[in-house]
Amino acid sequence: MKLLEQRILEEGQVRPGNVLKVDCFLNHQLDVELLDLIGEEFYRIFKEDGVNKILTIEASGIAIACMTARHFHLPVVFAKKAKSKNIDGDVFTSKVHSYTYGREYDITLAKKFLAPGDRVLILDDFLANGKAMKGLLDICRQAGASVAGIGICIEKGFQPGGAELRAAGYKLASLAIVDSMSDSGLTFREEG
Ligand code: 5GP
Repeated sequence: MKLLEQRILEEGQVRPGNVLKVDCFLNHQLDVELLDLIGEEFYRIFKEDGVNKILTIEASGIAIACMTARHFHLPVVFAKKAKSKNIDGDVFTSKVHSYTYGREYDITLAKKFLAPGDRVLILDDFLANGKAMKGLLDICRQAGASVAGIGICIEKGFQPGGAELRAAGYKLASLAIVDSMSDSGLTFREEG
């Protein structure tokens, strides 16, 4: 998506540890018009895939999921990172290793919001090593829900998450794929 690539070039900042900061428009301050176009693009890509629910992970995925859901007219459910008690066994949980914070955390999702028969579109802001996505896929597996597709705003193509998910056969659409980045610049993978 050229518009997203342009914004990354203009406003993205490369930080140590291969972290790309896009907090001016994507995951702290939010450019709602850009998010709406992102939602429209995900709708164009996945509209024929029988999606009935959009799944994401807090916090950065929520805005993207909501703006996409407006085009699908479907509910959004998000996995929580905060520890939540599982005394009654009423939540699915999975462990995720955080890319940006370098530690393990649990994600949880109330069982009542995901069930066999659901066909899920999973969305997130970034894909790097794929750990967050694997946690979300694990929750779908526990629920018996099927995965219609995975939509990512920014994939860091020099990290293995994207290649692994494609090899596993998922329909993965990344709106911008950064193939290399350093203080001196950024390159994107050409479409097609
Ligand atoms: P993964 O689990 O694929 O290694 O990393 C994806 C998660 O880590 C995303 O949910 C995202 O929040 C965060 N993340 C990974 N790389 C970056 C990055 O370069 N910039 C930002 N802002 N977040 C990232």
